[in-house]
Amino acid sequence: MATMTALSPAILAKYQPVIGLEVHVQLLTASKAFCGCVNQYGGEPNTHVCPTCLGLPGALPVLNRRAVEFAVLAAKAVNCEIRETSVFSRKNYFYPDSPKGYQISQFDKPIAENGWIDVLDAAGAPKRIGVTRLHMEEDAGKSIHDGFADSASRTYIDLNRCGTPLVEIVSEPDLRSADEVFEYLTKLKEILLYTGVSDCNMEEGSLRCDANVSVMLKGAKEYGTKAEVKNVNSFRYIRSAVEYEIERQIGVIEDGGRVVQESRLWNNAEGRTFSMRSKEQAHDYRYFPEPDLPPLVVGAAWQAEILSMLPELPEARRERMIAEYEITAQDAATLTATREFADRFEAAAKKAKSPKRVANLIQSELTMRLRLAGLELEQSPVSLEGIVMAADLAESGELSSKMLKQLLDTSFAESKDFPAVYERDKPKQISDVAAIEAMIDEVIAANPNQVAQYRGGKKTVAAFFVGNVMRLSKGQANPAMLNELVVKKLDS
Ligand code: ADP
Ligand code: ZN
Ligand code: MG
Repeated sequence: MATMTALSPAILAKYQPVIGLEVHVQLLTASKAFCGCVNQYGGEPNTHVCPTCLGLPGALPVLNRRAVEFAVLAAKAVNCEIRETSVFSRKNYFYPDSPKGYQISQFDKPIAENGWIDVLDAAGAPKRIGVTRLHMEEDAGKSIHDGFADSASRTYIDLNRCGTPLVEIVSEPDLRSADEVFEYLTKLKEILLYTGVSDCNMEEGSLRCDANVSVMLKGAKEYGTKAEVKNVNSFRYIRSAVEYEIERQIGVIEDGGRVVQESRLWNNAEGRTFSMRSKEQAHDYRYFPEPDLPPLVVGAAWQAEILSMLPELPEARRERMIAEYEITAQDAATLTATREFADRFEAAAKKAKSPKRVANLIQSELTMRLRLAGLELEQSPVSLEGIVMAADLAESGELSSKMLKQLLDTSFAESKDFPAVYERDKPKQISDVAAIEAMIDEVIAANPNQVAQYRGGKKTVAAFFVGNVMRLSKGQANPAMLNELVVKKLDS
């Protein structure tokens, strides 16, 4: 990490950081935004191109319907209002990887505005971060500065990415710390992944973030001058970059200087940001309406159709699952980490004797073992079906919690799923009528109240006796025989 004169906590505490984010998200459409070229990461350079995305004279753009649907889905998912008639504009600038000399974007009439994302602040309290706007645009190509024998003297251009559909999601300057930035991005990514509009793969550039950072004295009425930290490619680095930038700006002000409005780049190796271009060098994009595309109309009927494709979003899903399965917020967070896992959990839980027990088992025993083994949920040697089986056996009393833990340990040690381990190592069954009856007698004798309840007509109390005898037998009583004998004894 680079050295920066360390500012005392007392000095840092005088200032209020203010941050707003601009996030670019590539949409997972089959083809590009305005042409039929495949929308796919990688490929031989300059093979996923056509006259339109190469910007050859006379080639005309045709808007991809799916890109509009994904943009609207993303917008609804972050609570935006949809503008029924939005307009594409040309954003003019010269850059070698942008052959048209402009980018098709949206300017004063974006497709969506006025949304929000809820995050938790430092104190764990919910906080609403405004989403100013979400607009559609196209991506540029890539300049390749290394990897070739003559890279020292040449830059290579790959235009495969030109015309990839993007949405840009701009937040209000509502964020107040690097941690809130991290939270917001985590939430946003989770929401986008649930909607399925993007894979949000940061290494491949499917999700890119610019952070606008300023500081002001606490209690000040006006925000300070912002600097924009561009293109940091992981959430952790963005957190570091924002932290660095806050301290840098406070240092500048404390030294009697002024923060200048500029774009800065994060250098991860050095752990600092440095100036890229100042406001004086800022572009004037000369936006004007794109003459080759008509205004985009997304009427009520189409909006309703798109809305019907919106899945239950993570926050709502967690709340429902907490109520439905009587699980804790923490359990719910683990289970909804991805939509795919939440779907699988719910499908499995429906078949389980106690979904709550399945959830608990995942949250406690499974998560702990995964952490120890350094594995992700998807890499678990014990499948969800295995967990359901284990939970059912625990629920019926056929497995003591001690035995259950031992079997899970074996599963992890041998990388074998639970059912196979259980079949091999399960407790020996006691199928001797006299032995089972003796244990039933013991439990009946110890629980006169429950016996009275049963004989008074509450037949469900039988399960209480089955469970207790099962435990007494250390899970070894033959369950079918046990069920039958309990009822016989209680009825006699
Ligand atoms: P610009 O005109 O420089 O593009 P915008 O007002 O469009 O600035 O805002 C761009 C982004 O910068 C938004 O995410 C917004 O929330 C954020 N932003 C604006 N002003 C500030 C500020 N003073 N401090 C931090 N972020 C800011
Ligand atoms: Zn093309
Ligand atoms: Mg702006």
